[in-house]
Amino acid sequence: MTTEAPSKPRDFIREIVEADLAAGRYQRVITRFPPEPNGYLHIGHAKSICLNFGIAGEFGGQCNLRFDDTNPTKEEVEFSESIKRDVAWLGFSWDDNLFHASDYFDQLYAWGEELILKGKAYVDSSSADEMRAMRGTLIEAGQESAYRTRSVDENLDLFRRMKAGEFPDGAHVLRAKIDMASPNINMRDPVLYRIRHERHDRTGDAWCIYPLYDYAHPLSDAIEHITHSLCTLEFEDHRPLYDWLIESVSVPSRPRQYEFARLNLNYTVMSKRKLLRLVEEKHVNGWDDPRMPTIAGLRRRGYTPASIRNFCERVGVAKRENVIDAGLVEFCVREDLNTTAPRVMGVLDPLRVVIDNYPEGETEWFDTGTRKVPFARTLLIEREDFMEEPPNKFFRLAPGREVRLRSAYFITCTGVVKDDAGNIVELHATYDPATRGGDSPDGRKPKATLHWVSADHAVDCEVRLYDRLFRSENPEESGNFLDDLNPNSLQVVPRAKLEPSVRGAAPFTRYQFERLGYFCVDPDSSGEAIVFNRTVTLKDTWAKVK
Ligand code: ATP
Ligand code: MG
Repeated sequence: MTTEAPSKPRDFIREIVEADLAAGRYQRVITRFPPEPNGYLHIGHAKSICLNFGIAGEFGGQCNLRFDDTNPTKEEVEFSESIKRDVAWLGFSWDDNLFHASDYFDQLYAWGEELILKGKAYVDSSSADEMRAMRGTLIEAGQESAYRTRSVDENLDLFRRMKAGEFPDGAHVLRAKIDMASPNINMRDPVLYRIRHERHDRTGDAWCIYPLYDYAHPLSDAIEHITHSLCTLEFEDHRPLYDWLIESVSVPSRPRQYEFARLNLNYTVMSKRKLLRLVEEKHVNGWDDPRMPTIAGLRRRGYTPASIRNFCERVGVAKRENVIDAGLVEFCVREDLNTTAPRVMGVLDPLRVVIDNYPEGETEWFDTGTRKVPFARTLLIEREDFMEEPPNKFFRLAPGREVRLRSAYFITCTGVVKDDAGNIVELHATYDPATRGGDSPDGRKPKATLHWVSADHAVDCEVRLYDRLFRSENPEESGNFLDDLNPNSLQVVPRAKLEPSVRGAAPFTRYQFERLGYFCVDPDSSGEAIVFNRTVTLKDTWAKVK
């Protein structure tokens, strides 16, 4: 056994893997991440990705990316591409191990015949309604189908003719012959194959029967020599069927399934079906809308792969269902960006300040080490950083008061200009040349430090501010999650003013805007017109800022 660095993740699955390797049950661990390409990946999938690829990496094994494409659908290509992009972006590699359940259609079909020959499967010609009615309930046993006693020859003949396309959709299904009285409904002669005359993206028109997930999944695992098949808790009741299939046909390996609790986040919906509705009904602007819990959405919002991996590690892997606070995701990205995102200054709601004793036409460039920031006679500050009649706890700019302009000078407000309606349109101020760089030789310490930009040098940018997409902790509680949408989840600032160092920033460049939060350049930007997404606000409240 190896000794591990204390920072390595520990959980019951890693303990099992470690014990299996130590006991020599496997030479090498092989896991897989098996998404169905019917939507974009979300942060819940990230948990599964980090677990499967993480374990493979830590134990010197392999993790396959396997598309569970047993369901022929139209848009699989877009979804498969997005899934590959997202897994790679998270920092994981499947090397050459990219597979599809559809790669195994021939083998899966052959095992269907094998089950029939062993008397372990039969063709049922009941309708879907009849089968549902005969399935029984949690407290009542199901009833055996009249077709259950068909001979092996008849079953084989029908199954072959199903495959040959002789029957319409729904005419027959192949079912496992297990136990209609089993307390586990999954064991009541589950359907293994159904007829669907539909074209498949990868196999074209080769097939008109398609295997069900519960059949294809364990057998695909076996084909790939998966050692530990990790899935979420809702599959616990499917494990007896998983094991039954592995026992019943001549598989090349015997994987074992282990279940862990799925990731749930408050203020978030995570089922692909619901995310699809948000996209299709245009409640958001696509799968990668920065308000979406999709990997693509988080990426566009400015999240880093490291922050998502750290989040998954913090959440950990356990058997008990729980709901994680959405604030933890934000905490993780703040923690990362705090050390990686360069600082710049930008003003979202500008108010002009004229420095009367600063020479007209002059520009001074303050070098912060990472960039140069111009200072001139006309500046812009945040409108809410000024109050004409400040209450007790307001320490920012006010008539007669001195504040520090970050990295520049101390200024004192000397006048307020208003329009006819009484709105403040401009401030006048004086600066103290002795405070150059933001410190006073006489030890004066203003109670507030403001961010600012030079009006003539500022770059106009669109800034998109986000709030939670849903209003309540559990958006599904009310019955219809769409009723819980937050109407103010996106606020657009069409012309924020940014310091000129952001000019030319490429999409996905991340910054900390002093005092305002972390921001990321949106791919909607084009040339001079930069669009920023606010990734997350700063944890510090205004009052705590130096
Ligand atoms: P959804 O329920 O959101 O529609 P799914 O389970 O149908 O997702 P799949 O593409 O089948 O989506 O999932 C691929 C893998 O990701 C599965 O192994 C599944 O268990 C895992 N997974 C899906 N959602 C979560 C989650 N919230 N937390 C952890 N793992 C998840
Ligand atoms: Mg699924």
